[in-house]
Amino acid sequence: MAKGCAKEYQRLPFRVDPFRFAHDAVELESQLLLTQMKRLSAILYRSEGMITVKLAFAVDILGVSSLLGSVQASLDLVCQRCLKPMRVEVNTSLALGFARSVAGLEKIPSELEPVRVEGGQVNLLDLLEDEIMLALPQIPRHAENECSLRHKPESPNSESPQPQERENPFSVLAGLKKSE
Ligand SMILES: [Zn+2]
Repeated sequence: MAKGCAKEYQRLPFRVDPFRFAHDAVELESQLLLTQMKRLSAILYRSEGMITVKLAFAVDILGVSSLLGSVQASLDLVCQRCLKPMRVEVNTSLALGFARSVAGLEKIPSELEPVRVEGGQVNLLDLLEDEIMLALPQIPRHAENECSLRHKPESPNSESPQPQERENPFSVLAGLKKSE
């Protein structure tokens, strides 16, 4: 790819025939709106922003159709301690191998994640969304010193009253932790 030029993004086709794309060695560089990913949007603090994807389809020496690529996005998750936004940079790579049958899946080398293709097509948007969801922390939480809901060390003779904690669904969990 030429450097220094303004980037030209292509419109990402969503439903593709991965075998044809692999045969044609299709390469794509695209940007997607976060709002296009419904499952992901649902767990974000705000779903403004873009996802940058680079994809390269290829057929390997064993004849396996593969897709290698990278996904990059800045996401605002919800901190499960203070319920405020928490910025997470997603920079993940994907390596998928496609097959039409179970027998075909067994031929896919272990460095590729096997994907069964039904009806001759895959949904790229779904595949990319899956990769991003997998790359996110399961329970997003600010680091202790960055969280607006800091847990001060327990001190029964504390001079100043504890600031009132916000009600949140995780306060029960926090209480359990303290009593350990
Ligand atoms: Zn927090």
